[in-house]
Amino acid sequence: MTTVEQARGAAPVTTEQERLHRKRELAAAFRIFGRFGFSEGVAGHITARDPEHPDRFWVNPFGMNFSLIKVSDLICVDHEGTVVSGDRPVNRAAFCIHSQVHLARPDAVAAAHAHSVHGKALSSLGVRLDPITQDACAFFEDHSRYDEYRGVVNDIEEGKRIGAALGPNKAVILANHGLLTVGQSVAEAAWWFVTMERSCQAQLLAMAAGTPRHIDRETALQVRSQTGTPRAGQFHFRPLRDHVLVTDPDLFG
Ligand SMILES: [Zn+2]
Repeated sequence: MTTVEQARGAAPVTTEQERLHRKRELAAAFRIFGRFGFSEGVAGHITARDPEHPDRFWVNPFGMNFSLIKVSDLICVDHEGTVVSGDRPVNRAAFCIHSQVHLARPDAVAAAHAHSVHGKALSSLGVRLDPITQDACAFFEDHSRYDEYRGVVNDIEEGKRIGAALGPNKAVILANHGLLTVGQSVAEAAWWFVTMERSCQAQLLAMAAGTPRHIDRETALQVRSQTGTPRAGQFHFRPLRDHVLVTDPDLFG
């Protein structure tokens, strides 16, 4: 067995193993977000639903740099915003948004949100992600917009509206704010965030240079069926995770 396979561990079978698996994926996702430059001060959060208590989720502690987060730093928050595991505080916005997104989407094991530059820029334009590249097709007719920016999210009513705007999709563009993605696994939600941010960058570049050609609807839907599934999202995340498992040996501390 290789170092990576040992670090990844065997397929989880018990609740405790599944919890550890989700926490490991979560810590790896933060390292990856840090590497991609998705942090902006204290903004941004990725959550993983607890396998035993579905109304609780694991999340990064408020004010901790993504690139320094270890498994033991993660905190667990209940449906009232109380930290039930860990001794660090939770970001109020993280609780207000993610508690309501997880409530609205029982299928979502994970949700990711950060103030990445190109997602922020695209969110200000009142447009969606267009099917102008193969990668962008993963989001074709599978993302929505939330157009009512009302300031820093500090109440659960705003989280409810974001959850409603997300609908059944894998992502929502929060106007004048940034991107939010969900998945049936941490790996999937994190991958959608990475590739959505990069697809926003590609669209902004293409729009600045000319008039991008759209892929036709039938082809875009066909590509989405190949690259936009939960399984595909999870698989795309694997090379990124395998890399940080080697470069960041303190990750599981
Ligand atoms: Zn935010």
